[in-house]
Amino acid sequence: MSSLNFNTNWQYAEAPENQDHIELKEQYELFIGGEFVKPTGKKPVYFDTINPANNKKLASIAEASTADVDKAVKSARNAYDKYWSKMPAKDRGKYIYRIARMLQERAREFAVIESLDGGKAIRESKSVDIPLAAAHFFYYAGWADKLDYAYPNRKPKPLGVAGQIIPWNFPLLMAAWKIAPALATGNTIVIKPAETTSLTALKLAELIQEADLPPGVVNIITGAGATGAAIVNHPDVDKIAFTGSTSVGKIIQRAVAGTNKKVTLELGGKAANIIFEDATIDQAVEGIINGIYFNQGHVCCAGSRLFVQESVQEKVIRKLKDRMETLIVGDPLDKNTDIGAINSREQLDTIQNYIKIGKKEGADFYESSCPLPKKGNWCRPTLFTNTSQSHRIVQEEIFGPVLTVQSFRTLDEVIDKANNTYYGLSAGVWTDKGSKIFKLTSKLKAGVIWANTYNKFDPTSPFGGYKESGFGREGGLHGLSAYLKF
Ligand code: ADP
Repeated sequence: MSSLNFNTNWQYAEAPENQDHIELKEQYELFIGGEFVKPTGKKPVYFDTINPANNKKLASIAEASTADVDKAVKSARNAYDKYWSKMPAKDRGKYIYRIARMLQERAREFAVIESLDGGKAIRESKSVDIPLAAAHFFYYAGWADKLDYAYPNRKPKPLGVAGQIIPWNFPLLMAAWKIAPALATGNTIVIKPAETTSLTALKLAELIQEADLPPGVVNIITGAGATGAAIVNHPDVDKIAFTGSTSVGKIIQRAVAGTNKKVTLELGGKAANIIFEDATIDQAVEGIINGIYFNQGHVCCAGSRLFVQESVQEKVIRKLKDRMETLIVGDPLDKNTDIGAINSREQLDTIQNYIKIGKKEGADFYESSCPLPKKGNWCRPTLFTNTSQSHRIVQEEIFGPVLTVQSFRTLDEVIDKANNTYYGLSAGVWTDKGSKIFKLTSKLKAGVIWANTYNKFDPTSPFGGYKESGFGREGGLHGLSAYLKF
């Protein structure tokens, strides 16, 4: 019998997403009052937005000063008084439907720009970010003329002008989470994307202009922390909706104390993902991989703390490592890529620093052996075993592809361990037993708990945290209340 000599040392052929249809301007202005306007002042300031996969500049972005924020808020107030608060709710709904449909039509373009500017794998921007963003507009469009049914006999009213500040991990999706419910409830908006990922928000501004939304109903301004702070501190803003770090959330909370501004904060997380011995192990491993390595771990609800029941620990870790070895890190625009580029040099430094801390703390470090591109910001999927509750890598949010593993014996033990964190945004549980799922969901202090799945989002389902993960809910019926008074 001849021996079979297979060559297993092969790579997938490159499968780059087409970029020919993408049109980016060299310079982007501020979207205020339905127009693109230069920042005020004699010397307007612009900053670069960079492709984190090769560190090349994509475009110049305008930086909004306090005067520009003031202009945007005035424009939102004017639009609220003149058009939006007077418009019949069903017509408001039509505008939101229009945005949803246009977004769907241009999904491919938005997905490519999201991956270019933010570094996320095109597979994800195409199948998660953009369709979900459109789904949020569709969902909230439906609520616009049904608020009296959502809140019978309570006569809900809009708040006025909403100031919204969003992060860089799901740029367009976060914009949709904020804009869609605010519009459906009759508010007008000043929104600021994160400074490293402004492009899809600015593309959305172009789309909103094409959708012929009354001028000033949505104002999209760009800039960094100072611009965000100017929105928070503006006296004529009625509501602040923020998604970002816990540290900035605390600054915002202090800034609005003693004012009439309504606030919702969606902050950091350090989610527990728990595998019991009776779980379907292969399915659970796939869920753990998705929970932490999805979007480079740039997910506030990432399942970054894995708890495995002792009897299956060895098996789970072996399977995890095998699966990690198959993940492809590289060009975000390649359809084979699982893990794209880390969003910025600063974030890569933060992740690398935590990896150093973990090693120093005495945990055992493992990373996959996949090759990395030469230019750009990259991090392989990594794993720390032999960790303990007191380790900083177990306690602090890393926001990167870094998983810590601990074992447990009993249900009560894992509840204690999982709740031993400042955060409380999300958690996951993998088991064959419904009774364990119900016991855990009632005892875990987390806003969202997934059972036998992870990182599943839907516009109908509310999302938000406990403790230092913030307060208020976005999505679903709950997401409407955040923009209404009664
Ligand atoms: P991350 O650490 O994930 O970058 P940040 O909380 O720093 O998160 O940023 C989230 C958003 O908050 C970004 O749009 C950023 O520009 C904005 N931001 C940063 N500092 C402030 C601040 N002091 N006030 C308001 N917004 C801010």
